[in-house]
Amino acid sequence: MSSPHSLDSGSIAPLAILREVFGYEAFRGPQAAIVDQVTAGGDALVLMPTGGGKSLCYQIPAIARARAGQGVSIVVSPLIALMHDQVGALHEAGVSAAFLNSTLDWQEALDVERRTARAELTLLYAAPERVNTPRFLELLDGLAARGKLALFAIDEAHCVSQWGHDFRPEYRALAVLHERYPAVPRIALTATADALTRADIVERLQLQDARQFVSSFDRPNIRYAIVEKKDASTQLLRFIEREHEGEAGVVYCQSRKRVEEVAQMLADAGVNALPYHAGLDAAVRQRHQDRFLREEGIVMVATIAFGMGIDKPDVRFVAHLDLPKNIEGYYQETGRGGRDGLPADAWMAYGLQDVVNQRRMIDESPAAEEFKQVMRGKLDALLALAEATDCRRVRLLAYFDETYGMPPDAPEGEERVPLMHCGSCDNCLSPPAVWDGTDAARKLLSTIYRVQQQSGIGFGAGHIMDILRGKTTDKVKQFFHERISTFGIGAEYSETQLRGVLRQLIAIGAVEVDAEKFNTLRLTDGSRAVLRGEVPVRLRESVSQPAPRRSRRERTGGSASAAAPAAAAALDTGGQARFAALKAWRAEVAKAHNLPAYVIFHDATLAAIAERAPGSLEDLEGVSGLGAKKLEAYGEEVVRVIAGVR
Ligand code: ADP
Ligand code: ZN
Repeated sequence: MSSPHSLDSGSIAPLAILREVFGYEAFRGPQAAIVDQVTAGGDALVLMPTGGGKSLCYQIPAIARARAGQGVSIVVSPLIALMHDQVGALHEAGVSAAFLNSTLDWQEALDVERRTARAELTLLYAAPERVNTPRFLELLDGLAARGKLALFAIDEAHCVSQWGHDFRPEYRALAVLHERYPAVPRIALTATADALTRADIVERLQLQDARQFVSSFDRPNIRYAIVEKKDASTQLLRFIEREHEGEAGVVYCQSRKRVEEVAQMLADAGVNALPYHAGLDAAVRQRHQDRFLREEGIVMVATIAFGMGIDKPDVRFVAHLDLPKNIEGYYQETGRGGRDGLPADAWMAYGLQDVVNQRRMIDESPAAEEFKQVMRGKLDALLALAEATDCRRVRLLAYFDETYGMPPDAPEGEERVPLMHCGSCDNCLSPPAVWDGTDAARKLLSTIYRVQQQSGIGFGAGHIMDILRGKTTDKVKQFFHERISTFGIGAEYSETQLRGVLRQLIAIGAVEVDAEKFNTLRLTDGSRAVLRGEVPVRLRESVSQPAPRRSRRERTGGSASAAAPAAAAALDTGGQARFAALKAWRAEVAKAHNLPAYVIFHDATLAAIAERAPGSLEDLEGVSGLGAKKLEAYGEEVVRVIAGVR
């Protein structure tokens, strides 16, 4: 390499590398300690939430060690589809990197092997199944013999454990790396939280001596909101139009059919939406994923088949139109929003039918009873989150054994106090009015009981509510249900209120829905406590119309152009114009390099440039995300683009 920023010539101090190569001012949270540990040759196990900044934890040690003459770092990653973009991003930053996976033809693979053998690379990405081949191990042997094997980074380390959510048997064989090259430091990274999986990773990868770095799982820039489902499609459309016009997002639905419908509905309404599910042709899926990553403002409507390893930083919202199975799933899916640290929304519409469906899926699954019990427990925790009238963030973190306000990675000596409100979830922003639904719940339960007694069969939710509200429908007359003693005693409640009460009764297991008998309702052992008034039923006041938010235009103060993305929200009119011009320029560069736009520059970096309105190269110094190589490659063009807007 002949560029002035050649790797052999630079500093080996981690902070200097962070600033020079990546253009960032400071390490985040535990990054500095992790980088020090690994650069010095120690092992590390890193637990950090999505978007926490795991990549730099091994990329900076790799650069430091390469500059110190220690050779090549091997990155094991299961996400073949993403290696191309990851390596592309390193190239943009001036780091010599390559990948070996099944997408290369033999000639290309041979070329990468040769460059590895000559220790010309700083980072080599490889899929786990490749690492275990004799050919690859021979390559590593050759490097190790010359002291040119610098580091092993094992990404998505939870894949080694069957307790994790994504077990990959090939990961098991990675233990060979430590046995064969005991002197080479290793860093294993994952965003999976629970203790069982963590212990398993340590055991399987023989990381007993590794230092563990556990980060807070809080994602402060994500705003959680769970709304009552009425007409989910319309609610979603309104949410997107109101809050995220023109921005990238993911909408999760439970079934393929629903994915197709919702994607179509959004497209008809003018939203740039694409479907993604396992039933689509592999080529179509790949094309949609590529467009999502490379184009701006695409909304992906998907089943959970979509998402693992999607590291697009500027996903501005993740919406759930159906209830996930548990909090782990919900947290992982919502975690794909806002990786760039800018505000993102986690929005879910949730209703009675969701509770019924999820319960039924567990009941009807062929799994063993103990397993079903665990699944029910996990579903209950999610339902409690959905029904909660207090801070969602406090509850989410508590689920992962973290007390909000007391992060495990807080700097020593800093005062830590438990907090009850995050101030940015729906319940904190507008505390819901709560009403006491205990009386309504008892009336509902007695009606279910009496109807069953009188008719000998169960009835569905709609009919039960009609009786309680005293409506003489044909069905009521047909079964003489106006004679039931609870007929009309709930006339003061609206149908929405009763639906809410019923949803909560089902959520807490005080009412069961019999799927085999037309979704009829029946009492359970848990009903008695509610009937006796021992279990209070507290419900959020149903708000039929959410308070209108100010439009984006009002919030950002003026620009008549399309909605400004989160990164640019604070810019004035001139800034908006410069930002738009920079984005257009970036799109061209990205296309020419066959890379997603965010690999060239993040929105936040463009926004910072737009704000500064640089007139010369010097004015660009210190912009976050603008490393030495990018400054050299793009600085003049950026200044020219800005000049063109004046
Ligand atoms: P993870 O793999 O943990 O989900 P990434 O490594 O993709 O997270 O990092 C998330 C985002 O944060 C990336 O866009 C990255 O460039 C950015 N980032 C990471 N560390 C820093 C830092 N110290 N300063 C500024 N930005 C950072
Ligand atoms: Zn909150």
